Amino acid sequence: MLIAAIAAIFACAVVSTATVVVVRHKRAHKRTGLLAQYDPLTGLINRTLFQDRVASALSRARRDGGLVTLMFLDIDGFKDVNDRYGHGVGDDLLRQIAGRLTAVLRETDTVARLGGDEFTIIVEGGKRVEHAGRVATKVLKAVAAPYKVGSHELLVTVSIGISMYPVDGDSYEELMKGADTAMYQAKSAGKNTYQYFTRSLRDRTSDRLSLLDDLRAAIDSGDQLRLVYQPKVDVVRGTVTGLEALVRWQHPERGLLRPAVFVPLAEESDLIAPMSQWILDEACRDMKRWLSQGIRPMRVAVNVSDRMFRDTNLVESIAVSLAAADLDPRHLEVEVTERTITQEAERAGRAIERLADMGVKVSIDDFGTGASSLRHLQTLPIRTLKIDTSFVQKMHERKESEAIAASIIAIARCLDISVIAEGVESMEELTRLNELGCNDVQGYLIAHPLPPGEIIDFVNTYDKTLSFPPNVVPDTA
Ligand code: C2E
Ligand code: CA
Ligand code: CA
Repeated sequence: MLIAAIAAIFACAVVSTATVVVVRHKRAHKRTGLLAQYDPLTGLINRTLFQDRVASALSRARRDGGLVTLMFLDIDGFKDVNDRYGHGVGDDLLRQIAGRLTAVLRETDTVARLGGDEFTIIVEGGKRVEHAGRVATKVLKAVAAPYKVGSHELLVTVSIGISMYPVDGDSYEELMKGADTAMYQAKSAGKNTYQYFTRSLRDRTSDRLSLLDDLRAAIDSGDQLRLVYQPKVDVVRGTVTGLEALVRWQHPERGLLRPAVFVPLAEESDLIAPMSQWILDEACRDMKRWLSQGIRPMRVAVNVSDRMFRDTNLVESIAVSLAAADLDPRHLEVEVTERTITQEAERAGRAIERLADMGVKVSIDDFGTGASSLRHLQTLPIRTLKIDTSFVQKMHERKESEAIAASIIAIARCLDISVIAEGVESMEELTRLNELGCNDVQGYLIAHPLPPGEIIDFVNTYDKTLSFPPNVVPDTA
């Protein structure tokens, strides 16, 4: 429980530690001789000597036909130990961990500290693959016992990636890469665990990399990404109130890809900024065109992810797109997730205020799924809450979902914020929402996301039907 709590408080990134280590390494290298091969903090061998040791182990294994196991260890949440207790405590902790690793392994095994909170181990000679798992289990257990550092009692865990000669590679580079990939897999499997590098892991990694290359090319050329638009309607007044832009990727070999496949990929790389700019540009251009073709004035909504808030100058990008398309900000809306508002509170708050000042409307997407802070709703210029699909679609089977939908509607009403339900698929859901006081909806019941060429027709047809129950358009997408 405590470990889980520590892990939760201690989310990632080792930048500051890494910088300190680089400086230390440089200093160590200035001293000649043995010191250049040992880590001054822990006394373990360093990366240079470790690389030599792997090379010798590999040549022995080639000669004798044995296995060489390489383990890559990364301490879970180490940066937060430093941030919380200071570098002195962090250093002491690293020394103690080094001691435990040495104690738990055999003399014939090798432990090194690569820098920061990264350690590596070579286990030589095991005859079976499972042997590595047993060693890793011992290491996990040894590391997880409580530490006494000064007056603090600390609990930490490690994530371990394992690669083996000859199955996973026959060079230092290949084995390190495999163990590193497996270590990340262990982290995402929940930390405090080990993971073997397997062929499927390698395939997945290279699959991911090739998709990333393809995405880069798609953004550069600009002719594989598309936007589709899902109408938002007021079912009682019978009008289309807005359009949400949703991105699609027409991949030359893999067919039409949904955002769930490639948006996270873009977010984890440097592609999020250019992709977002493309989406904003395109949505503004489409809206401008519809307006000039006589569509009733409304807003086009663009989804922005939390990475965009963190890593790009979102307000700037939006201003650029609006100017390029010569679109009035009153025709643009951004949908921000609840997670962004809570996790990127300060930055998101500033950006949202600037957008509102410009006249761009801001709404909160997937509302109800994150830990929302009512304070944010009160202090930020937020205009709409979107009730997440998961509550809408479970309304009839779970009373709790209906209660959540009802309270979101009530909160919005109290704060004078409008509310829209997304993912409405059935008349049953729609009727219940109306009874709860929510007439603004979006979902397959009304319309699937449509290609830009079909928007004007849809709006004109829908607007003519001032009736309830609403004008239901047959499934097309
Ligand atoms: P979202 O913003 O919550 O978008 C709504 C998703 O629900 C869309 O999926 C939409 O096609 C789907 N949907 C609409 N009506 C219904 C319905 O009645 N039933 C069901 N089951 N689903 C419905 P899509 O297009 O696959 O988008 C998924 C998510 O990807 C979006 O969730 C959004 O978070 C993200 N996304 C989409 N386009 C963009 C984009 O341009 N930029 C960014 N950053 N994220 C995007
Ligand atoms: Ca959305
Ligand atoms: Ca949503």
